[in-house]
Amino acid sequence: MPRGRMTDVDHTGRFDKYREEKLHDPYITEKALAEPTICPVCNAIYHKKRWQFNKKMLLELKLSKKYDSKVCPADRKIADNYPMGVMNLSGAFVIEHRDELVKLIKSEEKHAMEKNPLEKIMSIKKTKDGMSVETTSETLALRIGRILTRAYKGKHEYSFSYGDKYVTVAWRRD
Ligand SMILES: [Zn+2]
Repeated sequence: MPRGRMTDVDHTGRFDKYREEKLHDPYITEKALAEPTICPVCNAIYHKKRWQFNKKMLLELKLSKKYDSKVCPADRKIADNYPMGVMNLSGAFVIEHRDELVKLIKSEEKHAMEKNPLEKIMSIKKTKDGMSVETTSETLALRIGRILTRAYKGKHEYSFSYGDKYVTVAWRRD
């Protein structure tokens, strides 16, 4: 697990070497949940040791009434305001293209959630020089950073700061 502060500035936007490094997630407990469990907030199902969306299974479970109900880790983080990824997008380009960027970020969230319901955006806020985005997983913040680089070539810079609790991704384009 990364400790302290680690900053990397890479103008090519490469940070694959960090992808393997996972932060400790206090919301993922060692104790196994009962199966099946349904999250009452987002309807994700805990099945075969992982959270997933499955409309057919959800319907069957709801009809059978044989399931546990427990809020999933992502929705607990949202309720507790415990982000694991914090992105700061800044610069004139960001201010001018806010709507477009929000659309891109949301579509990436949708894409991520299809694979893992625990990867969610907690908030998107306007800031003085751009916007800030909080995510429930560091992986999602890192992925969005990479997508932004791919989609918008030009002058931008990154810094990744790992602490014990979350990763910060800074993306700037003027
Ligand atoms: Zn949930």
